[in-house]
Amino acid sequence: MDWHLGSTEQMIRDTFRAYFHEQLEPLVPAMERGEQLPYPFMRRMHRELGLDAFLSVGAEAPARGKTPSVPAGDERVARYARTTFSVEMARVSPSFALSYGASVGLFGANVAKRGTAEQVTRYAMPVLRCELVGSWCLTEPQAGSDALGGMQTRARYGGDHYVLRGAKTFITNAPYADVFLVYARVQGGPLDGSIQPFILERGMPGLTTGGPMKKMGMRGSPTGEVFLEEVRVPCEQLLGGGVHQRDHVKSSLAQERLGLATLSYGIAERCFDIARDYAKQRHQFGQPIANFQLVQQRLARMYVALSNARRFVYADYYSDRPLSESVAEICAGKLYCAEVGTFVAFEAIHILGGYGYMEEFVVERLARDAKLIELGGGTTEMQILTIAREILR
Ligand SMILES: Cc1cc2nc3c(=O)[nH]c(=O)nc-3n(C[C@H](O)[C@H](O)[C@H](O)COP(=O)(O)OP(=O)(O)OC[C@H]3O[C@@H](n4cnc5c(N)ncnc54)[C@H](O)[C@@H]3O)c2cc1C
Repeated sequence: MDWHLGSTEQMIRDTFRAYFHEQLEPLVPAMERGEQLPYPFMRRMHRELGLDAFLSVGAEAPARGKTPSVPAGDERVARYARTTFSVEMARVSPSFALSYGASVGLFGANVAKRGTAEQVTRYAMPVLRCELVGSWCLTEPQAGSDALGGMQTRARYGGDHYVLRGAKTFITNAPYADVFLVYARVQGGPLDGSIQPFILERGMPGLTTGGPMKKMGMRGSPTGEVFLEEVRVPCEQLLGGGVHQRDHVKSSLAQERLGLATLSYGIAERCFDIARDYAKQRHQFGQPIANFQLVQQRLARMYVALSNARRFVYADYYSDRPLSESVAEICAGKLYCAEVGTFVAFEAIHILGGYGYMEEFVVERLARDAKLIELGGGTTEMQILTIAREILR
């Protein structure tokens, strides 16, 4: 879709689209088969696009690389550029975008925002620059939707250290991560009973990870378990020296949900484009299938869903205000965009007929990837329960 963009926005979108199409797309088949990890390309992308300046990694970093230049002081266009960067990445490889978001967003940005000066230098900066791979470890085998209430991982207080024991599962990047932001319930000491995030490093005695899990989709994004067997962690590894538990986890989840909604939108937009182009060139009964009103109805409904989802992921661009801090609004957007991603992807398969079911035509991969976003970052049911709780306060 063209979306009637202004010339600056068009240039930004075209730059990212060309970059991901030319540089990432050729790597996708090997990444999907697990023969190539996403991390080397993350490092390359960071360098080639000059993301230090684009993502404000270190105020001193000069603008360089291929990132489209945003007119100085135009914060609205800068917000457009940041969202479009994620959308264009997800159009080509949602699983690459998932791994990148977990590392740079959930670990890197989180530690940069809440960490001590030492933690920012030692952990956040190398992850934001893609030199290290980060992971965000909340979910446990027995605690998914009820991640906080059901958490079994414990951090025993020992004066100048904690001892962590437990297991995490379904963790994006875990099989290859260098650093882990691990949530645990504290036993003893001044933070007794609270849930706290600890920064752990691969190589700490007692910390091990499982191999990559076999999945329905998001196959280019390694997912795995983290095992913690009496891992002794100095108190300095407590994120920010200790944070208010629920608010911290909630705001991390809000960031995750915004990011996941953007991935769903990218999936839906690519699937819509593929289906519309296909409908115009595929002939049956002597004419393009786009002439048939039953096909037009599918395309029109896909477009309605897509344009509504666009209003959410680009809210801070269209309305010229930062995205709402409202939990209900974020959950509503995440829920809606996740369902739009799956809906549009499966409609695209249908419009392509048997070809849509074949790997070569991309939409089947995007449909498999789309389903994850209805589960991760809180399932649809969790979004509904949270929205209901917030609007009935
Ligand atoms: C590919 C992938 C990557 C992931 N990456 C990460 C990661 O990086 N970090 C991380 O911490 N986690 C990650 N997750 C975990 C993800 O967030 C959880 O899978 C998700 O929160 C759901 O938890 P669960 O799988 O245990 O399902 P469950 O909580 O067991 O839910 C099962 C079903 O029951 C429903 N249900 C549960 N409670 C209720 C209720 N009260 N009312 C109605 N229905 C309910 C759910 O909606 C769902 O349909 C990832 C998962 C996947 C698949």
